[in-house]
Amino acid sequence: MADGRHRLVVIGAGPAGLAGTLAAAARGIHVTLIDSAAAAGGQFYRRPASGLGARRPRALHHEWRTWERLEQGLAEHVEAGTVEYLTDHHVWLVERTEETGRTEGTEETERAAWTERGERADRAGRAERAERAERLIPAWPGFVVHALLGRLQERSVTVRADAVLLATGGYEKVLPFPGWTLPGVVTAGGAQAMLKGGLVVPGRRAVVAGTGPLLLPVATGLAAAGVEVAAVVESADPRGVLRRAGALTSQPGKLVEGTRYAARLLRHRVPFLPLHTVLEAHGAEAHGAEAHGAEAHGAEAHGAEAHGAEAHGAETRGAEAQGPRGAERLEAVTVAALGPDGRVRPGTERRIPCDTLAVGHGMIPHTDLAGALGCRIDGMKVDVDDEQRTDVPGVWAAGETTGIGGAALSLTEGHLAGRSVAARLTGAAADPRATARAVRARTRMRRFAAALDAVYAPPAHWTDRITDDTVVCRCEEVTGGRVRAAVTDLGAGDVRTVKLLTRAGMGWCQGRICEPAVAGLAGCEQGATRRLLARPVPLGVLARAGTDDGGAPDADSPPTAR
Ligand SMILES: Cc1cc2nc3c(=O)[nH]c(=O)nc-3n(C[C@H](O)[C@H](O)[C@H](O)COP(=O)(O)OP(=O)(O)OC[C@H]3O[C@@H](n4cnc5c(N)ncnc54)[C@H](O)[C@@H]3O)c2cc1C
Repeated sequence: MADGRHRLVVIGAGPAGLAGTLAAAARGIHVTLIDSAAAAGGQFYRRPASGLGARRPRALHHEWRTWERLEQGLAEHVEAGTVEYLTDHHVWLVERTEETGRTEGTEETERAAWTERGERADRAGRAERAERAERLIPAWPGFVVHALLGRLQERSVTVRADAVLLATGGYEKVLPFPGWTLPGVVTAGGAQAMLKGGLVVPGRRAVVAGTGPLLLPVATGLAAAGVEVAAVVESADPRGVLRRAGALTSQPGKLVEGTRYAARLLRHRVPFLPLHTVLEAHGAEAHGAEAHGAEAHGAEAHGAEAHGAEAHGAETRGAEAQGPRGAERLEAVTVAALGPDGRVRPGTERRIPCDTLAVGHGMIPHTDLAGALGCRIDGMKVDVDDEQRTDVPGVWAAGETTGIGGAALSLTEGHLAGRSVAARLTGAAADPRATARAVRARTRMRRFAAALDAVYAPPAHWTDRITDDTVVCRCEEVTGGRVRAAVTDLGAGDVRTVKLLTRAGMGWCQGRICEPAVAGLAGCEQGATRRLLARPVPLGVLARAGTDDGGAPDADSPPTAR
């Protein structure tokens, strides 16, 4: 309960959510910060679990001082009771309610009621303030946030709010190719998460492949942890960034960062293959423990003690669907050079032995909660105005849910959102001078992100390399051939029709993984899919929704309010 203060729920404790939380809480708003992870930090500030006893957790990170400031700020607000922080809470739905979530008995409630009902304020002197409130505080209903608890996720709790900040980040895009479901093939971010969060490495000899700036920290991180990185295979030409002088001069620090990564690759003698792609991952019969999936090897790097970890979560699933490959494990990849038209240059194929392939083709914003709330989605990202407001009153969005752009941009957007929420909820006029620097920084960073986006697009003709027996939808085991048949024989021209005809996208992940590939094969643009629920929800929870999920967490999975 917010002790009469306005209540904001922030969903996501990554850079954007943390910055938004601190900015709003510092301005008198009561914030409930909700995250599905066990610790704050999101993707960028992922750290070893405390139980691992890492002696130097900062060793695998940059921007650590910023993290310490965020962590300390959060701890102080939690201590002061201005922020309630709920870990292990998986938000599956945010609902708009008819009742206003504002606390009864305060002046603000009266102002809100006045603006909502259009009644005249009955006491002298109130009218003017109410008028101001009407300008500054558009009337909006309250919100109920539903979250599944803990590991079992069999119970749901609700949190009520006057405003919501969506800071749910993004997730990795992986485009399929023959052999991509073999054990030993992991996502680039998954490999990094194992290293940063579990202090383990996915194998002994790795190829890091795909496209995008994320490949560089992943490759250098693995190399520093003792993995032999056999090659970084980048399908784009990073020199394209240098050609975008306007974007680069606005972010000179990024040039320094890129140079630092290049130097590290050189130091570890990692070959960098621009304009190359992985054509196929090859498996070999696995023996003993290896047959069970990715081996996790302790990373003794950086003085951090390594412990075994459940590495299997990061591994791409569905190896069984490859038939004879079921008992196999990755042993090599074939890579090839790409011509200027994006097609493979004949005769350039070569086989690189490896036990790990860390692969990623960029990121996709999480838009499910925003979509279900009815927020406008622009292409793949939540559309926001200068204050990070969505077009649904009372709902703000910040960070990679509004477009992929890196941790610094997420921090800035979160900060601007938190300030805006505070101003809009309390009726205090926003002072544009106070935010001018942050707004300019956001513009520069967005311009740079757009330049990266243009350079690191997947190469043309990537769908040509998906063979008919390549599994495209891992959950429902739908092959490239079946998707093609749906398009050519049955006339499907969009993702939804392919889904109805083949079941691609109907499984556990609801198309989050396979949709880019299905769209590519169907020859249509990938748009943001509207999903009613952001997570798979047990039927029992749905049946009880609105009745008994009044917020009491169960004993099995207590919320860690710190
Ligand atoms: C796997 C991976 C690795 C990355 N590594 C790097 C890197 O090395 N360097 C780099 O510059 N950038 C990296 N990035 C990009 C990075 O995500 C951003 O730069 C930055 O972290 C984005 O901040 P954010 O706050 O928008 O989102 P995030 O940091 O992604 O935080 C979003 C938070 O929301 C939570 N969340 C999402 N949905 C829900 C829900 N329904 N209910 C409750 N909680 C939810 C998540 O648990 C997460 O903590 C990586 C991204 C990914 C996906």
